[in-house]
Amino acid sequence: MTQTAETGARHADNPLLADTPTIPFDRIRAEHVAPAIRAALARAEAELDAIVRLEGPRTYENTVMALEELGERLGRVIRPAAHLVSVMSSPELREAYESVLPEFSAFQARIPLNPDLWHAFKAYVETDDARRLTGVHARHLDKVVRAFVRAGADLPDDAKARVEALRVELSTLGTEFANHVLDSTNAFELVITDQAELEGLPESARAQARAAAAAKEIDGWRFTLQLPSYQPFLQYSARRELRERIYQAYANRAVEGEHDNRPLVRRILELRRELAGLLGFRDYADYALEESMAGTGARAVEFEEDLAARTRPFWQAENEELEAYARTGLGLDRLQPWDVAYVAERVRQDRFELDAEALRPYFPMDGVLAGLFELSRRLFGVTVCERESHEVWHPEVRCYDVLDEAGERLGGFYTDWFPREPKRGGAWMNGLVVGGPRPDGWEPHLALMVANLSPPEGGRPALLTHREVQTVFHEFGHLLHHVLSRVEVPALGGTRVPADWVELPSQIMENWTWERPALELFARHWETGEPIPDALYGRMLAARTFMGASFQMRQLSFGTLDLDLHVGWDPAGGGDPVLRAQEVMARFQPRPDFARDHFITSFTHIFSGGYAAAYYSYLWSEVLDADAFTRFQREGLFDRDTGRAFVDCVLSRGDEEDPAVLFRRFMGRDPDPGALLRRNLGVDEEVR
Ligand SMILES: [Zn+2]
Repeated sequence: MTQTAETGARHADNPLLADTPTIPFDRIRAEHVAPAIRAALARAEAELDAIVRLEGPRTYENTVMALEELGERLGRVIRPAAHLVSVMSSPELREAYESVLPEFSAFQARIPLNPDLWHAFKAYVETDDARRLTGVHARHLDKVVRAFVRAGADLPDDAKARVEALRVELSTLGTEFANHVLDSTNAFELVITDQAELEGLPESARAQARAAAAAKEIDGWRFTLQLPSYQPFLQYSARRELRERIYQAYANRAVEGEHDNRPLVRRILELRRELAGLLGFRDYADYALEESMAGTGARAVEFEEDLAARTRPFWQAENEELEAYARTGLGLDRLQPWDVAYVAERVRQDRFELDAEALRPYFPMDGVLAGLFELSRRLFGVTVCERESHEVWHPEVRCYDVLDEAGERLGGFYTDWFPREPKRGGAWMNGLVVGGPRPDGWEPHLALMVANLSPPEGGRPALLTHREVQTVFHEFGHLLHHVLSRVEVPALGGTRVPADWVELPSQIMENWTWERPALELFARHWETGEPIPDALYGRMLAARTFMGASFQMRQLSFGTLDLDLHVGWDPAGGGDPVLRAQEVMARFQPRPDFARDHFITSFTHIFSGGYAAAYYSYLWSEVLDADAFTRFQREGLFDRDTGRAFVDCVLSRGDEEDPAVLFRRFMGRDPDPGALLRRNLGVDEEVR
């Protein structure tokens, strides 16, 4: 609306700016990215200006929603471009995107610090129109106002300047921290030239190491500290001294010379504490968790402590079993940190004889998807149907529509399942358009699911491992959360919810992949159509809780350490945070000497990722999903009424209400960790 005729014409054929209901992904090229994003930024800037300079009475629509909508319009240009960078990354595309990213970030950062805009919002809050708001609109206004305050909008100028300086320095330090970890990870290699030293390693690990050596034009087998190389080595290598070498290198990354992260650990913690103090919080955890379910650092600490106390006895039993097996079964005198994964794998093979590959023939990709869609139809009343489209970024991409029980189209999604060179690793669901009810009718949702699953091979369809099946179900849970959203405000719709709530819809779906009646729906041998044999299913179930307490204690150690540094450690009191980290970790190790390494200097989740003071969210969400699933177990795995209640209370609600209220509405009570303990540890604790 503020474009001149000239720029309007220049942008008319830019597919990123196309005003169409679908996104013409097939036509987007690197050269479209920067002009489109710059045009979108210019438009957003003008719209922001119009909000500030508005004359006449302020209303929710012309002030709060206007800001919301300009952000959404901008997102519709940014998100498809960002998505292409992660799935079709060419140097040109990446460069184009990175050339405009700083402008976008700066625009985002300036919004809450714009004093005129803040003034306009404060003026609106005082109006009768604002006081009359109810429900999701009142919550929305409240959140927007808090976002201004949390950014420092209310502080005197010198404090505001300090907050800005702190954020800039923290962001630089976070990047530096991650670079040090990356550089010291890449600085190590273990090259084996004597085949005998590969003892114990499976064929896949050997082939990978052979290729890694060839890529560097060296002879032999090259192992690195990248997880796909490091993990199988520790798990399978029968050579103890080599395990020790690679373990020590991994556990002591970023503690030396130019990659030393120890000073950064202290500096980042100090600055975060200062930032929280300036914004009126006791510590960084209280600041970071204000908008989460936990709400405060103290509540998160209490959660960790309670779960750790309940996990500890089972974990001790697992440790004793490992130690006994190491001594009598493997002749290892004293278990060391570099033995744990190896011994656990030997016990697992001994006890369950479970070859993860044996399940693959029962999980052909198309069968898994058909079963998953059928499950969603029975439970949640949604119909998923494939739709032909040529507007995709790769020929393997498929498009689907999602319809509700009345046949109304709720939205659509793309899938992109298999690895490609220029595609980021991992699996994820992303929202492209957060739709829902709007004043002028239903706006369709648009989303995508991406993964890197085992591809079709040699004329066979793609056959998945059980772990991969869980990944598909997990991402589809996020997708349902997105496309079933009926929230009127996009900012609070779909998966735009606190981090300790967002994994409930995804993780709960994984539960069905373990249940016999659900497996009957989709786990059929790709050639014979036979279901999984009872004996194989039995072994799969039995292995489910193996080392479950150890896994849980590991997660608890990370969560506790994270909170201890952001709540307990006070820079004013002195003390070395690196030593303190070792002390905290020692409480979660079979022996204190297991914690003598420097895990903290490579803990990127909390020093350069988005999980500072929030690592606990992983287990928190697991408590929620394990607990909520018990209602389905009780009332029926395909029970439509229970499914409807889950849609009404959770899947359609986004962040419309306090998640604790939403959970209580579904379960009739607060979350109970008993179900998680039963599922992960195989414990029979009574549900309160
Ligand atoms: Zn997830």
